[in-house]
Order: sequence, then C-alpha cells, then structure tokens
Amino acid sequence: MVSDIKNIYCIGRNYRLHAQELNNAIPTSPFLFSKPTHALAGAKGQTILLPGDRGSVNYETELVIHLARTYEPGLPLEELIDRMTIGLDLTLRDVQDELKKKAYPWLLAKGFPNSAVLSSWLPFEGLQEVSAYDFTLEKNGQEVQRGNIKDMIFDLPTILEFSAKHFGLGQGDIIFTGTPAGVGALANEDHLVLKWNEVQIGECKVVLVKNE
Ligand code: ZN
Repeated sequence: MVSDIKNIYCIGRNYRLHAQELNNAIPTSPFLFSKPTHALAGAKGQTILLPGDRGSVNYETELVIHLARTYEPGLPLEELIDRMTIGLDLTLRDVQDELKKKAYPWLLAKGFPNSAVLSSWLPFEGLQEVSAYDFTLEKNGQEVQRGNIKDMIFDLPTILEFSAKHFGLGQGDIIFTGTPAGVGALANEDHLVLKWNEVQIGECKVVLVKNE
C-alpha cells in the first residue's frame, strides 16, 4: 500500500486556527515541505515506534490525497486524484522550534521514520463530497482533532497547481494537505484512531523509544 508512493509533499499552515495556535502568520501563498518515503507507515492497528529522546512528538491529522496521473492544467480533480485517506504528519515540535529559530529546513523535525502515517485508502469522490464530511483523531478514546477541508486556506486545486508548477506532480505522489487546530504532544503508549465521516479507517499505538 505504501510501496508505490513516490513523493510526499506536505502543506504547512493551511488552516487559520492552526496557524494561530502556533503563533504563525497566515500564509499568502501555499507553504510546502516534503518527507522521505522512509517516513511512511500504515495505521493498521500496529505499534509505531517514534523518537522518545528529542522533545515532544506532535500529532497533526490531515487529509492525504494520492495522484492518479501526471498533473495537467484543466484536468478535473477526479481525474488527477484517485484515492484519499486521513494521515498523521508527525512532528518533533521542539526540534522544529529550534530549526525555525535558526531558519534551517524542517527535515529533522518532519522527516523521521514513521512520521507519515496513513490510514486505509478510500476512493476520491470529488471536492464537494469530500467537503461534506469531517475527519477526526481520537487519542485514548477522546477526540482531539476535527477538521473539514472547507476550512482550508488553500483549496485542493490551488495546492495541486502550485505543487505541479514548483516541484512536479505525477502518479504515486501524495500530499498531506495541512492540519486543523488541536495539535498536541503524544505520550508513550497512546492509542490513536483516525476517522473519516465518523467511521474508523486507521488505528495505531505509539511507543516513544529512548536510544540515548
Ligand atoms: Zn502538517
């Protein structure tokens, strides 16, 4: 499932309330970073190992889209995107804060193994249909994030056009489209459930590993 994925792009600060909760300015054009494919992990009920000795690991729950083909301007979204799911853009927040201070790239904070968690894929039914439903993250049985793509600052067509223009977009690429408000730190043995339209599509337990 994750083996055919080529590039992993991620949109930063794409929901107003999330940008504000981290005291970031609202961007005026899409703001992207990427992750290595080694970051991929499925959420199939298993345990996911994460760094436990580099400060807090934050969850960011996001709609993830999968490209069916090479981007061409004017193609309908339903032809460009074949699948979607809900994913976690896991982030070493303390590391990221240090990187931001130095104006360094975010790779160390965003690109560690298992930092790109994907639930089961669903067919992409179109912008209207996807906007009709919420996605959620539950941590230890409590809802901690709820999002809807109609609250995005930059919508899917804008994100696709921008990514294609600046990086190239083709079959097998995926895009994490940004997190709504409510991000927070994970604790050892937290149990996470990802839902689309109130239906569970992903589940995992996290273990924070101390190596040093
Ligand atoms: Zn994110």
